[in-house]
Amino acid sequence: MKTRTVELIVSPPNPRFVGDAFRVHNFIPSISPMTMERMNPFVLLDYASKFYFSPTDTPRGVGVHPHKGFETVTIAYKGKVAHHDSHGGGGVIGVGDVQWMTASSGLLHKEYHEEEWSKQGGEFQMVQLWVNLPKKDKMSPPKYQAIVNSDIPRYKLKNNQGEVEVIAGMYKDTMGTASTFTPINLLNAKLNKGGKANFSFPDNYNTALVLIEGTVIVNAAEEVPADHFVLMANDGKYFEIEATEDAIILVLSGEPINEPIVARGPFVMNTEGELKQAYQEFTDGEFGELD
Ligand code: MN
Repeated sequence: MKTRTVELIVSPPNPRFVGDAFRVHNFIPSISPMTMERMNPFVLLDYASKFYFSPTDTPRGVGVHPHKGFETVTIAYKGKVAHHDSHGGGGVIGVGDVQWMTASSGLLHKEYHEEEWSKQGGEFQMVQLWVNLPKKDKMSPPKYQAIVNSDIPRYKLKNNQGEVEVIAGMYKDTMGTASTFTPINLLNAKLNKGGKANFSFPDNYNTALVLIEGTVIVNAAEEVPADHFVLMANDGKYFEIEATEDAIILVLSGEPINEPIVARGPFVMNTEGELKQAYQEFTDGEFGELD
């Protein structure tokens, strides 16, 4: 089987704060060549590397804001995130949990550190991914999938090499738990030191890795340190990751949606007209109400 090679290893760019709660490195779409088109259906990836937040009685967060035309997927590695949206979705995610929010036709939400966790303070680490929707699904009703870690199916690697959590899509014979609109594989590979895992996705699937923890070697050649992003080329299917210390690797691979992307701020649409309309709907209060 033809090997999928490493196209680029990217060190984390300078962080910026989203609200006062999320100190993120933006890998998609602001770092060349990871544009929305190149990485489609993954149109944004913000990585909050480990950062200590001091105790507070006033949870830090991002206030009420809209989204339309895509899905936000938040994966917590350290700390706790609370979320509410104007479509009735909401909940708290902790270490290892995932919230998969389909904004589609439009909603308002807010995201902040969970109250009790905020009082304690501590290290915070997470990924937020924006998953594009095909034109035919952009106007579907919003929905919310709360995925707790214990519900995520796992593929156990042989000889205590570790395991692969299948959030969405497939790994080997193990099927993920999240429902998606287009084919997407979203995996957390948790490898013990010396552990190896191999992956195979169709050549045209846009594929990347985020090194959440530890150091790995990809295809027995490319060393990747913690907090780095790896863009995989579309030149083959198969690649292998070996952990040189205990490691957590977020693996994303998805079939590109070959439709125009017109995006600004919190909206990802297909045309300028639809984008204008989204702003108008937001101004007119059509995305519902949220305190
Ligand atoms: Mn948001």
